[in-house]
Amino acid sequence: MKIVILGGVAAGAKAAAKARRTCSDAEIELYTDDTHISYSACGLPYFIEGNFEDYRLLLVRSPEEFEKSGVKVFLKHRAAKIIPYSKQVLIEDLNSKRAFLIDYDKLIIATGARAIVPNITNVDLKNIFTLRKLEDGIAIKNKVQESKNAVIVGGGYIGMELLEALVKQKLHVTLFEYAPHIMTMFDEDMSELIYEQLNSISAGRFEIYRSELVTEFSGDNNGVHKVRTGSGKELEVDLVIIAAGAVPNVEIAREAGIAIGETGAIKVNDRMQTNFEDIYACGDCVEENLIISDTKIWMPLGANANKEGRVAAINVCGGDERFHGVLASAVTRCLSLTMSMTGLTEKRAKQLGYETEAVKVTKNDKVGFMPDVNNITLKLVADKASGLLLGCQAVGSGDADKRVNTVTSALLAGMTVNEFFKNDITYAPPFSPTIDPLLNAAQILNSKINPDYEK
Ligand SMILES: Cc1cc2nc3c(=O)[nH]c(=O)nc-3n(C[C@H](O)[C@H](O)[C@H](O)COP(=O)(O)OP(=O)(O)OC[C@H]3O[C@@H](n4cnc5c(N)ncnc54)[C@H](O)[C@@H]3O)c2cc1C
Repeated sequence: MKIVILGGVAAGAKAAAKARRTCSDAEIELYTDDTHISYSACGLPYFIEGNFEDYRLLLVRSPEEFEKSGVKVFLKHRAAKIIPYSKQVLIEDLNSKRAFLIDYDKLIIATGARAIVPNITNVDLKNIFTLRKLEDGIAIKNKVQESKNAVIVGGGYIGMELLEALVKQKLHVTLFEYAPHIMTMFDEDMSELIYEQLNSISAGRFEIYRSELVTEFSGDNNGVHKVRTGSGKELEVDLVIIAAGAVPNVEIAREAGIAIGETGAIKVNDRMQTNFEDIYACGDCVEENLIISDTKIWMPLGANANKEGRVAAINVCGGDERFHGVLASAVTRCLSLTMSMTGLTEKRAKQLGYETEAVKVTKNDKVGFMPDVNNITLKLVADKASGLLLGCQAVGSGDADKRVNTVTSALLAGMTVNEFFKNDITYAPPFSPTIDPLLNAAQILNSKINPDYEK
């Protein structure tokens, strides 16, 4: 059997390694248009920040290691066309410009996603970057060393991580977000809190502007020098990073007749199989099932890509493994501020037709006498009628993500708030107050949903 894999970062590399272990007799070939495979894109902001200097620490497995295990790796080889009816792929060698057809028995599409580049005047000037691939990270890091002023376009997860990275590299940073809020995946009240808390720790190192559209770059052969915005702001700049979101790479799949889902990513079943029996897909190019609401969502995250790559590999090797979906859990950090969420926000729950009840508490993350005590704000959302816990958002300098991770298990188990607030979670002064802020929030939410509970 011959397995062909297209793309080799997280999902493709995982699928190749797992397929190699699962079906030792199979011929496996991996084609990528990239210069590297099997690297941590998630680690790129921390490389730019200067936590380590050697980019090779981001590499998980080299092409040579794959070759040794019997997986043939073709770097700088782009898949130009999939022909499902003859089970072939047209490959373009980007070095020699030669094109050739290859056969497959099973195909795994792991073509990932690419950064969105908005239509801004002179956006193709030198020193205007997006961050997606390893080579983007290396180029940005080189430019950072000789820069003083940077602009980030976009206030989502990657914008936040880059804000931290550039500030830690002692650049002055201006972040522009065209929406009225940054981190728009959170409820508006939580996004507002993120904005306020970031401003409170800025100390003149960075500014964040919302509802501000970047309209024009100007510069010369040396690169970008100026950024202009819709409201008339004009800034001198050495470096611009566009972090305006991403879109899935689905064009070759769509042209081949592979079904695309309502989110714009490839539609797969829980075996990661497309509408063609022998074609599977995984990672950032596919959409996921949102477990709580049984709706579709596009969650282009590294952990999902790895899990899906594993499932696709087991199934192409004849197994029957399932990927049931995601809870839309995510976490990021910007300087001392952690932002994390899982499940449905109040806004999303309402869109899906739930009548929601929500509670927001701000508390110490550990006992007040501990020297490293910090604040966290937690928002818990539940379905008013059934009491079912729907989601949690956490923001603050304190330990936010462990609270969100506790809620993920409750969501998976389908717990009500009433069941959840009796949870026996750990306590000692360096870790939490006697009643953890999460249980405190759950208790308040429970009394809102079940007013007679403690009477
Ligand atoms: C800066 C940054 C920070 C991130 N941080 C986090 C984080 O903290 N946590 C988290 O969970 N996730 C994070 N992510 C997301 C995570 O990196 C992605 O989910 C993961 O890389 C997806 O892996 P993938 O293999 O599906 O796709 P990709 O990483 O997009 O890889 C796809 C590969 O396929 C290649 N390719 C595309 N089309 C073709 C073609 N036609 N022919 C051949 N090759 C092709 C591409 O060049 C690329 O090399 C981050 C991403 C970025 C960019």
